[in-house]
Order: sequence, then structure tokens, then C-alpha cells
Amino acid sequence: MRRPLVAGNWKMYGTRQSVDELLIGLNEQHWPDEVDLLIAPPALYVQQCREALEGSPLRLAGQSCAFQAESGALTGEISPAQLRDVGCEFVLVGHSERRSLFGETDEVVCRKFAAALACGLRPILCVGETREQYDSGETADVVGRQLQAVLDTFGVGGLAQGVVAYEPVWAIGTGLTATPEQAQDVHAMIRARLAVLDDEQAQCVQIVYGGSVKAENAHALFEMPDIDGGLVGGASLNANEFGAIARAA
Ligand code: PGA
Repeated sequence: MRRPLVAGNWKMYGTRQSVDELLIGLNEQHWPDEVDLLIAPPALYVQQCREALEGSPLRLAGQSCAFQAESGALTGEISPAQLRDVGCEFVLVGHSERRSLFGETDEVVCRKFAAALACGLRPILCVGETREQYDSGETADVVGRQLQAVLDTFGVGGLAQGVVAYEPVWAIGTGLTATPEQAQDVHAMIRARLAVLDDEQAQCVQIVYGGSVKAENAHALFEMPDIDGGLVGGASLNANEFGAIARAA
């Protein structure tokens, strides 16, 4: 009943030339019909991607957005309305790199979620615990708190208009993947938490896993009942690998 979703987060990688090459590779892939597929290139290259992907099922996402929907004096920021204007349909909010390196609090992340929805973008709310928090058994508390900020304002129905990405910080870019069982436990915990509030909507929320997803581990992860796909960083910079991950969903 939930569509799988596979998203590629290119982070701050790429040049016009390497983006062209990657797009050629992506256009050679055989994409599955029944999966929501998207890439989040650096904002500067969204237009280039849009032109090259005309007719492709790959849709576009921003990697972050400003915390207000309307335009304004926010030097260096990109509004969700601008992302929409150049063809994005999704936007990541609260990626752990934004939280840890740019000081984004749950409150800011919630404002970004709101601004994205107001502009007709589907926000992908990223949550996840650090290694220390994992080691001290705080995963459920940390993830619960990160979700609660959005739930307080929007409820489960609002969350369901977006996507949840569970990304344990210790698994991002480290080559350490959560085992399918570890990830499933957290995904099931998230869904159970939502189900207490609204069971029907909770069953509709797409919850994807991120953190060193590769072609080789994607199938085992995506097979889990509450893992609805993946948010892929490093491996999404290789067209064949990203294609293989998409076909595993
Ligand atoms: P990774 O990144 O796949 O390179 O671990 C995932 C992410 O940061 O979204």
C-alpha cells in the first residue's frame, strides 16, 4: 500500500561536467515503474538536471531550504518556492549534516517542513541518532524528539504529506550500515509511535532508511516490512549503482 521511494542525495559534489556525465549514466538506467525515484543535486545544478531528465521518471529534490516560504532578505538561502519554481517536488529537511554542522534545531527543521509544505514541496524529514546516543540506548528518545517537533504542529496527517528518512548518524558516509534488523526495529518503533496517534495515517507514511546504502545491501534492507526505500548518499553518485539500488526497492 506504500510506494517505495529511493532518493539520491548528491550533497556538495559535482561540477557541470561531472553532473553531465552522471546524467548520461542515469538516463541509461532501466528504472522500476512502481518506485518513487528522486535525486537531490546541489541547487546550482537543478536546472541542468531538469533539462537532461526530461521524460525520465527521476524527480528532483532540494537538499535543504529556507525556513520561510515567502521570499525575503536571507542572503545565501534558497526558498522552497524557488525550488518549486525550478522544478523540485521534494526537499530534504533536517539532514544530520545540517543539524550538526549548521546548528539546525528541531524548531528550525519544523519551520522548514512547514515552509516546504506551504509551497507544495514534499519535505523529507531526516531523523537519526549519533554513535554516542546509539551506544547509550537513546535511539528511541532522540528519534522520538525529532519527530515530535513536527508532529506537534502537523500531526501524523501532516507528516504523511512528507516522507521520514531514518538515518543513524554513525552510518552516514562511514560504510557502516545498520543491519536490516536494526533498521527495521527503529522503523517499526517510528511507525508504532505514529500509530498511537493515528493508525490509519501511520500506515501511509513512507519511512526510508539512509546510511551507507549500496547496491549490495539495498535488497536486504528494502525487504524489511517497515523500510520503504532508501536515502542514498555516496552510492548515488554512481549511475549504475544508483540504478541497481532503485531496482532493489
Ligand atoms: P551515505 O549518505 O549513503 O553516503 O551514507 C546518506 C545521507 O547522508 O543521506
